Amino acid sequence: MFNLVIFGPPGAGKGTQSAKIIDKYKLAHISTGDMFRMHISQDTELGKRVKQILADGLLVPDSITIDMLEEEVQRNPDVSGFIFDGFPRTVNQAEALDTFLEGKGEKIDLVLQLDVTEAEIKDRIAERKKVSGRADDDEDKLLKRIDEYFSKTIHVLPFYQNQGKVVKVNGIGQIDLIFGTICEAIDNAKVD
Ligand code: ADP
Repeated sequence: MFNLVIFGPPGAGKGTQSAKIIDKYKLAHISTGDMFRMHISQDTELGKRVKQILADGLLVPDSITIDMLEEEVQRNPDVSGFIFDGFPRTVNQAEALDTFLEGKGEKIDLVLQLDVTEAEIKDRIAERKKVSGRADDDEDKLLKRIDEYFSKTIHVLPFYQNQGKVVKVNGIGQIDLIFGTICEAIDNAKVD
């Protein structure tokens, strides 16, 4: 198995690059943000619990997120690997993921850090808002999400850096050029 975490602030291009990675490397995509939005649109019990949290741009509690993630992994026993998008977002989630994968004889092989400036993120999300209709793309909710990123999620990086797993990729520029750099990082990690 080859397991990858795609990491970066809101609007870094995680979703866009994930779609290209899945296509080329045939990994199963797990986006916790997409999963929460699906639960909300289907008005499930979980959806009801997290709706307001997402609308406010806050992080969903770890216990809910970790349970949902682990169930999704268990539902896909025959894949050649996973790309985790939007997870882990806290050190607690990262530790839980390591323990969980270890129990399956698996591990995270690579963490791709998409590096983007705060100014670029804000521009992109303002653009995305015009087409996505995502309530959490509003200016004040976006600031909240960026806040959550810099107060909680950023600490996930040293966690994986200590394991020597992080490759930083410049996330600004043409989508295909960024993807090219990502492919190099994946191909290198695969032969290691
Ligand atoms: P973006 O791509 O803009 O970073 P996502 O689609 O990944 O946003 O996530 C949207 C929202 O879903 C987050 O703001 C948060 O409320 C919730 N969420 C997603 N993943 C997690 C997670 N791993 N832990 C806690 N909350 C999460």
